Amino acid sequence: MEQILQRLTSLGVEAERALQGAADRAVLEQVRVRYLGRKGTLAAILRGMADLDPVERPAVGKVANEVKRRLEAALAARREAIEATVRQAALAAERVDVTLPGRPVPMGRLHPSTQILRRICQIWADMGFQVYRSRDVETEEMNFELLNIPAHHPARDMWDTFYTTTEGVLLRTHTSPGQIRAMREYCPEPIRVILPGMCYRYEQITARSEIQFHQVEGLAVGRHVTMTALKGTLVDFAHRMFGADRKVRFRASHFPFTEPSAEMDVECIICEGRGCVVCKQSGWLEILGCGMVHPEVLHNGGYDPAAFSGFAFGMGPERITMLKHGIEDIRYFWANDLRFLEQF
Ligand SMILES: [Zn+2]
Repeated sequence: MEQILQRLTSLGVEAERALQGAADRAVLEQVRVRYLGRKGTLAAILRGMADLDPVERPAVGKVANEVKRRLEAALAARREAIEATVRQAALAAERVDVTLPGRPVPMGRLHPSTQILRRICQIWADMGFQVYRSRDVETEEMNFELLNIPAHHPARDMWDTFYTTTEGVLLRTHTSPGQIRAMREYCPEPIRVILPGMCYRYEQITARSEIQFHQVEGLAVGRHVTMTALKGTLVDFAHRMFGADRKVRFRASHFPFTEPSAEMDVECIICEGRGCVVCKQSGWLEILGCGMVHPEVLHNGGYDPAAFSGFAFGMGPERITMLKHGIEDIRYFWANDLRFLEQF
């Protein structure tokens, strides 16, 4: 019995020293297994109690329990100390300096074409025109025939486009087919809509021509729509868009889907009419095409040309942006070059 008590005492001293010397989690675990584990020293001593006289066992058991409790407490204390050290180290290593200035987030902005489209839509909305969205993929009939451009018409040569693998289905060359769709939807109600959207043409890409570009089309149909209404409305638009005292002029022109047709010029916004490179010394910039809706087109839209009349116009937002900022190359718009885009 003396011997076993001695072993318990020296185990206690030795194990306690080992626990205190354990520097990290791994060593601590090794020490725990060695002294307190199921195959450890303490367990071995306790197994030796079987050889003792039953009368002596309670006294030895009491000492053994005390040693065990003391070692477990020491183990827990050491574990807590090690965890605290690890936490402190992590805090020190991952410390955030809240006084550092933040990293700036790059600010996005709207594409110049989107900006001008929104401006144009806003002006027409103020004037009572609603936006009518029409499809980019059209039938040949909608894009040409119903707009008074039959297959033999020479205007078709200027408007070659991208055809799909389905016969008679193509990417629209202008927003005008939307006129037919709007008329067929609203007939016989009066119409005041604008139709903004992307158009496509099969062209060689140069500084002046792209295979895709925006158009904003406008259409008004009613019982007493006159050429005077067309002129008054477009002059008002030009004043809202380019300035209230901007001079405006109309020149006779030709489009298959309007009769009579005109083109509208505004006084050059770069040189104020004095003459410059952008306006080719004329003092005028061509801004849009317009005219009274051709009776054939009204008829194709479902309206009786004897009772209804209408006007239509179309403009190119990219062209307006180019004129406004003196941009010489239309390819910049879709080249995704930030040096260009960040200027707007
Ligand atoms: Zn000019």
